Amino acid sequence: MQVFALGGPQGNTGQKSVLVKKPGLLSPCQLWAYFPDLSDPDYETHVAIIHSRFSTNTFPSWERAHPQRLMAHNGEINTLRGNVNLMHAREGVMHSPEYGDDLKKLFPIVEPKLSDSGIVDNVLEFLCFTGQRSLPEAMITMVPEAWQNDVTMTKDKKAFYKWSSFVMEPWDGPALFTFSDGRYVGAVLDRNGLRPSRFYVTKSNVMYMASEVGVVDVPPEEIVQKGRLKPGRMLLVDTKEKIFKRDDILKSEIANLRPIQQWLEEEVLTMDTLYDNHNHGHKLAREDSSAHLTDYRGSVMEEDRRLALFGWNIEAVTLLILPMVQNKKEALGSMGNDTPLACLSRHNPRLFEYFKQLFAQVTNPPIDPFREKIVMSLACPIGPEGNILEPGVAQCRRLWLEQPILSRKDMRVIKATTYRGWKTMVLNTVYDVNDDTEGLVPAIDRVCQEAADAVEAGYTLLVLSDKKAGQNFVPISSVVALGAIHHHLIKKKLRMRVGLIVETGEAREVHDLCVLLGYGADAICPYLVFETLSMLRKEGKLTPFMNDQDIYLSYIAAVARGISKVMAKMGISTLQSYKGAQIFEAVGLHQSVIDKCFVGTASRIGGVTFDVLALEELNRHNFAYDHRYGDNRIVLSPGFYQWRDGGEKHMNDPLTIANIQDAVRSKNYNSYAKFAESAWESTQNCTLRGQMELVFADEPLDISEVEDVSSIVKRFVTGAMSFGSISYEAHSTLAIAMNRIGAKSNTGEGGESPDRYLSKDPMNNTRSAIKQVASGRFGVTSSYVSHCDELQIKMAQGAKPGEGGELPGYKVTKEIAATRHSIPGVGLISPPPHHDIYSIEDIAQLIYDLKAANPVARISVKLVSEVGVGVIASGIAKAKAEHIVISGHDGGTGASSWTGIKNAGLPWELGISETHQTLVMNNLRSRVVLQADGQIRTGRDVIVAALLGADEVGFSTAPLIAMGCTMMRKCHLNTCPVGIATQDPVLRKKFRGTPENVVNFMFMLAEDIRSHMARLGFRTFQEMVGRADRLTSRPTANSEKAKYLDLEGILTCAWKLRSGINIVGGSVAQNFSHEIRLDNVAIEKAKDVLDGKATKVEMALHARNIDRTFGATLSHMISMKYGEAGLPDNSINIQMKGTGGQSFCAFLAHGIYVELEGDANDYVAKALSGGEVVIYPPKDMSADFKSEDNIIVGNVVLYGATSGKAFFRGQTAERFCVRNSGALAVCEGCGDHGCEYMTGGRAVVLGLTGRNFAAGMSGGIAYVLDREKLFDQRCNHESVEVLPVDSATDLNWLRDTLQEFVNKTGSTLTQTLLADWPASAKLFVKIFPYEYQRVLAEAEAEAEESHEDELTNLYDEDTIVSEVVLQTPKDQKHFDMLDDDDMINGAVNVENIEPPVSDIEDLVSDDEDETLDKARGFVKYRRATNQYRPVAARLQDWGEVYNHKGIMKGITKQAARCMDCGVPFCQSENGCPLGNLIPKWNDLVFHNHWKEALQTLLQTNNFPEFTGRCCPAPCEGSCVLAIGDPAVTIKNIENAIIDAAWTNGWMEPDPPTNRTGKTIAIVGSGPSGLAAAAQLNKVGHTVTVYERNDCLGGLLRYGIPSMKLGKDVVQRRVDFMKAEGINFKTNVKVGEDVSAKDLLDQNDALLLCMGSAWARDLPIPGRKLDGIHYAMNFLEKWQRKHAGLAKPTDTFINANDKEVIIIGGGDTGVDCIATSLRQGARNVTTFEILPEPPKERAANNPWPLWPKIMRSDYGHEEAKLKLGKDPRIFSIMSKEFVGDSEGHVCGIRTVLVDWTKDDTGRWVMNEVPDSEKMYPCDIAILAMGFLGPEKAVIESLSLNQDPRSNIETHSGSYATSVMRVYAAGDCRRGQSLVVHAINEGRQAARQIDIDLMGQTSLAAAGGVVQPIREMAKPNGVV
Ligand code: SF4
Ligand code: SF4
Repeated sequence: MQVFALGGPQGNTGQKSVLVKKPGLLSPCQLWAYFPDLSDPDYETHVAIIHSRFSTNTFPSWERAHPQRLMAHNGEINTLRGNVNLMHAREGVMHSPEYGDDLKKLFPIVEPKLSDSGIVDNVLEFLCFTGQRSLPEAMITMVPEAWQNDVTMTKDKKAFYKWSSFVMEPWDGPALFTFSDGRYVGAVLDRNGLRPSRFYVTKSNVMYMASEVGVVDVPPEEIVQKGRLKPGRMLLVDTKEKIFKRDDILKSEIANLRPIQQWLEEEVLTMDTLYDNHNHGHKLAREDSSAHLTDYRGSVMEEDRRLALFGWNIEAVTLLILPMVQNKKEALGSMGNDTPLACLSRHNPRLFEYFKQLFAQVTNPPIDPFREKIVMSLACPIGPEGNILEPGVAQCRRLWLEQPILSRKDMRVIKATTYRGWKTMVLNTVYDVNDDTEGLVPAIDRVCQEAADAVEAGYTLLVLSDKKAGQNFVPISSVVALGAIHHHLIKKKLRMRVGLIVETGEAREVHDLCVLLGYGADAICPYLVFETLSMLRKEGKLTPFMNDQDIYLSYIAAVARGISKVMAKMGISTLQSYKGAQIFEAVGLHQSVIDKCFVGTASRIGGVTFDVLALEELNRHNFAYDHRYGDNRIVLSPGFYQWRDGGEKHMNDPLTIANIQDAVRSKNYNSYAKFAESAWESTQNCTLRGQMELVFADEPLDISEVEDVSSIVKRFVTGAMSFGSISYEAHSTLAIAMNRIGAKSNTGEGGESPDRYLSKDPMNNTRSAIKQVASGRFGVTSSYVSHCDELQIKMAQGAKPGEGGELPGYKVTKEIAATRHSIPGVGLISPPPHHDIYSIEDIAQLIYDLKAANPVARISVKLVSEVGVGVIASGIAKAKAEHIVISGHDGGTGASSWTGIKNAGLPWELGISETHQTLVMNNLRSRVVLQADGQIRTGRDVIVAALLGADEVGFSTAPLIAMGCTMMRKCHLNTCPVGIATQDPVLRKKFRGTPENVVNFMFMLAEDIRSHMARLGFRTFQEMVGRADRLTSRPTANSEKAKYLDLEGILTCAWKLRSGINIVGGSVAQNFSHEIRLDNVAIEKAKDVLDGKATKVEMALHARNIDRTFGATLSHMISMKYGEAGLPDNSINIQMKGTGGQSFCAFLAHGIYVELEGDANDYVAKALSGGEVVIYPPKDMSADFKSEDNIIVGNVVLYGATSGKAFFRGQTAERFCVRNSGALAVCEGCGDHGCEYMTGGRAVVLGLTGRNFAAGMSGGIAYVLDREKLFDQRCNHESVEVLPVDSATDLNWLRDTLQEFVNKTGSTLTQTLLADWPASAKLFVKIFPYEYQRVLAEAEAEAEESHEDELTNLYDEDTIVSEVVLQTPKDQKHFDMLDDDDMINGAVNVENIEPPVSDIEDLVSDDEDETLDKARGFVKYRRATNQYRPVAARLQDWGEVYNHKGIMKGITKQAARCMDCGVPFCQSENGCPLGNLIPKWNDLVFHNHWKEALQTLLQTNNFPEFTGRCCPAPCEGSCVLAIGDPAVTIKNIENAIIDAAWTNGWMEPDPPTNRTGKTIAIVGSGPSGLAAAAQLNKVGHTVTVYERNDCLGGLLRYGIPSMKLGKDVVQRRVDFMKAEGINFKTNVKVGEDVSAKDLLDQNDALLLCMGSAWARDLPIPGRKLDGIHYAMNFLEKWQRKHAGLAKPTDTFINANDKEVIIIGGGDTGVDCIATSLRQGARNVTTFEILPEPPKERAANNPWPLWPKIMRSDYGHEEAKLKLGKDPRIFSIMSKEFVGDSEGHVCGIRTVLVDWTKDDTGRWVMNEVPDSEKMYPCDIAILAMGFLGPEKAVIESLSLNQDPRSNIETHSGSYATSVMRVYAAGDCRRGQSLVVHAINEGRQAARQIDIDLMGQTSLAAAGGVVQPIREMAKPNGVV
């Protein structure tokens, strides 16, 4: 510890005052011995400042010693980087009449390499000595009050602050500054009041001020005043005048030194002034809606080329921007961030994405920008700054903006203004596209030069505009241009002469705007946001309708909220000080980029250079302006937020999720291995650890030598997920699982009910080993904290570090409310931790509190990775934490704004290595156990964490997935379909997870770890910890960009930094000195009561401020024995005198009564748990000491109290009763933020309150004595109503409470009130939260209702139903009845289901006008059952079987069933082969945006009318909804979209505008050939399709009957393609009519799409008989005849009146059934050799695999109706065709077969003895599939074939063994579905385009156009 002293002026010597600074490395009690002169009688002083510091930054140095030259402080300046930059820049506009040219000698004002304190001191000193300001004025210029929103502040003071803000931004952060120049000594507290500061004034005119009371013993009778410094206030002693100056008087004097108000009125410019003086002679139109859409192509927003150019995507519009303007706040997401870091992404991330927001944790607090918005402000002056050294009128000649976002109209005014000499220069931040990647850096240099020239030329504002970007110009990223110009101007000292405004199409989200502001933007116009929204309005997609003004105002409202939140998470309150503060860390940017644009920003792992950034910009440009429009017509959604096929990689992709679930359910290590493999793939794509290679041992160990799994799993914990954010079922399942294996689960901050934590069941123990104590303090009682193994303090969480959270009222069920000690239905706010953790000292106190409250629990602190976390962790280790969690940015399961999820926090790899290294360097590693967490899932992840320094690992997402989570990312909507993240009783019933799932996962994971350990040569886990030398950068990283990263810093072994250090975490115990606790005395005295031997004990104790957390350990003893209930009232009665230390009576249990005569410090009665605390002033104070005018206890009193009573005779400081949820508290006045976040209990304040009373208060009631009628101004009215106290109930309660208060404290004030009762009651107001009122009213109504019910039920007992039944909506019962058995190709089989008696459809009107609920549509609406026309009717014709009209009727409701999954499995490998953008078009259909749905559909599928009719819809088999319910009717919706398009004439041919000159021949006009032709034609190639048949369409034409696919539908498409310019040649047999070689020679490429035409035969006896046909022959001939195309000579096979047997199932078999029946077959039977599928999925056929279940297709239904039976016979084998005498088949001899598995697990078929049977048969149809393509063409071109005789292509390619010859469809991949054929054709076309043109704008999987331009390799990389 360091102690420093500052001497003041010598007393009576008459000499000039001398300041003496005495630094020393000692503890406070050594002061006198260390500095003997201080106790020398000759040494007199008027002032002494003593500063004792907790050395967080672990390397103390003399330079950092306080006091500095003028001041000392105990906090932190969060805005330092910006302040320093601006001070440097300010030097350019400074001049001093006094110093003249000598002024330059004082530069730089800020000396290099100083601490934040040193820097503040530099500036303060400079202002005092050169700036014509007194020390107090200089101080408040730098640290102003929160003046902007303070309605109680005087006008002159407000004016002063505004005026001074024109030359100085606040130095913002939590700090108590003390200062002295020899004459004045004073202190000023930050605007938030986040540091305690208490003082006594004595009769002898001495003031003692300290951060605690009790540091100096002062006789009570000597004290005349006990006070505290309030937020933003100053305390000043003038030693010359020997007076204390009150804050209001002092500031009024300063404010009135100059005519500031007049100056402001006359000189300040505002936007209004500029509008009024707009010099264009015409009035500006109010609206500006005719967006100037340059380079616009198309008629819808998605086609605006600039969106693609600036890196927009549809998600950005729909997920972020639209909700922002509709809700005036940012959209929420959940389940953390699992996408690649920008430096790994292959999807051209924008530069903003390389920046991660920093946030406050531990050493300074994040603040709550919403409930404490009185301290927040976005107002700033911009433009040329005046000379700070001449305070005067000139300094207010700036443009004052209330917030930084400008409209397009504002920009027009600003650009044109010439008012008062202001002029604006527009700098075009673009460069010529022809300059390619070399163009970027010169362009940056150019704009920097232009900026400097413009400033020199006198321009006052510079607009950095990328509006010129387009076809010919590439935009420089706005933040690159801005950063470079900002720093260039700072360097040239020109920055303060000009305002920088960014006009950009790139910025859109809150994070983007924050990055721009953080790097120096004064204002921003995100014009493309406004134009896009205007466009959406035009398209009718902006609901409700908004004019431009509404759009602008809504957007800025959302942005203002968002920016405030980002600032607040760093503890910064004003935009003025956030601007330019660069509070970001760059991840993956090369130092050259940092040095040019982002000077001083941390970028620890190097990264991409300007070349790469330029290439990414050019890729975007290329996508936007590729003149060959392919699939780049619309801006895409590559899945940055939700997983999308072919899009951005995600850690949690469908494959990984499916594998993990299969592994844990089947307990199969092979499945786990598949999971680990897919997880490794995604790890490489997304994370830093994926860029690291393990260095295995030369000689691996035998696995038997490696530590056992049962020991390894003990290092596992599950993440802190609250009961509330997840369901009871999920929460308790995790606990049971972790208890079973001896690992730990974590309650999260939502608490845990006693029945769970007292559970003793060995196998199903629901007690969570870790109890989290977060800022919400939900249900944190003495008993709760006593019953655990570990107590965890949550400083921050991965998904939203520095942010708070909220549990909405509808999620607060009875169970949750009981657990959290709150009220059902009342929302709960979980604020950022700024209440009791303002600093490292505070966390030390909290650690101590918790250890006192449970001495056996390990105390843990959870941090989030960011630069400097190692230093923070060291501070925490010194603060005696025993365990530290370093959480990664990607973790987090709860809801948060997308800005937080995506852009805050850093990877844990950086955090854990920094922490381990720093702890080792400080020899602290042995004191703490380190844990890493954040998307850790595999053994390899755990190994990397351990090698980097982690002792333990945490898992959140993985165990949730193991329990059934499918990453819906809907946690925040309460609609989790698998019952995990929901409190909805209906959905909770869907929870299928088991403890075994989690246990299996953990054990397989541990086995995985063991196998890695064996290969690494480690026997024990401990040996691995910190062995970073066993990691290396991967030489062959997955992405080219990854090669730019430099991981050396992370991979540095800590022992290289300091050797010989014990690194065994937790091997050295922290010393809490519990043996000297005052509690020990109390426990000893109360022993008999604790043991139950006595009922009461009384004791007297002396209180000192060093006795911290008194009462907590005594309470622990009670809680362990008596649980929540504690002891009977007053069992332990403690009388005390003195000063209570910090956390006096925290956690006080029921049965303890403590009375203190004296005063106390902060946190009194924190987490009060039923005990009672009474504090009153010493009885020997002087008679005129008025308790109500003096302070008695400190800040944050009763924080998180759940029950009990507290009476304080005197005032309390800030945040009285914060988060009180059940206690009664009375005081005689309180500071700011009283009753903040209160959710229950009662508070009575008998005097003035501070500002912001009741902010966020949602429950409980407060009564305030408002004699002065000031309360209204001071109350935050947002959530509460202020009422008179007039009801009898209130009056009686209040009177009794006051009486009790008098009885216990002797309050004279209260006695006076009671003497005048009830008249004095009129002086009170009642503060009653709206939400609480609502809940009480509802409860009352419910009670009345139930009373009526009771009366009714007296007469009818049968009506009594269980609660569960009541909670289950009627629809659910029917809903649950449906299963896959009822599906026909995914549709419901109508015949099998009785119409429900009381279905939801009966309850919800079928009217499409009804307001449908998309969020819960999957619960409310059942799957449509009307896919087909009635069987009887359709059997009468050959028309399509579909009920097109019926489907259309309810289509919106069906679309509402789609859950828009975070991971849409319908698009996954098991789902749609085309990667159709199903959730997107479902959503568009739901919103009736059919045209856009069509666009989206055509992005991936050329022929939806074919797939919508013929596809078996694998998408529906893997639909997430199908886990427990019928799937979404995807196929029907798809078909409806395209049919609507044809019907409405939206399908218009669009031939390419340019032709490439390349020609391509395609053989075959089936689905693959047609798809390839459409794609190749789209991008301008000349395509000719050759078809051997007389009609086009291949299989589509004749192979599929007209009942399934109308031939008009095929012809329509063919005609359409012809109109688009595709050439078709029919009746051309390639190989006969034209040679394949000739085609190849005549074209640039030849694509073979010949299908698979070689049918499988059945070579059994009798095969040669007549009447045996191939199915295709049967179908084709009939279709041709039916279409009227058969020649007279053609024959066809007629089943009329015949006995038909179809051999083989499948779709073709079904088509044969339907055809035979329509022809009039007498009987139809199908033989299937395989056994009958089960009705439900088998265990080995889990979701999302295609469900192999028994289904009924349309043909089966028809056979059932017509023949009265299902035509299918399973497990049957044909042995012989039997013929009649005429050689015609007349029967088939069969045998039944049995399928069993042999020893090797293979299926073996055996004939069933005596099962032979003869089936009569007139026609036998062989429908057994195809074996391969026809050989002629293959042979003529000498193409290689694969073993299945298909055309061989290179792996992952469509190129054959012959140059320029390609193959696609069934001839390449074998017989398959139509949808696969289309996909093959599309992808073959893409490859051909790339091969011919070098690049392509055709889409790859999922409709995503991939950039194919190669990344430059970094220097030295080969
Ligand atoms: S093409 Fe088939 S798999 Fe794809 S969405 Fe349509 S029905 Fe589903
Ligand atoms: S169709 Fe099914 S899997 Fe696909 S997004 Fe909708 S609910 Fe999810």
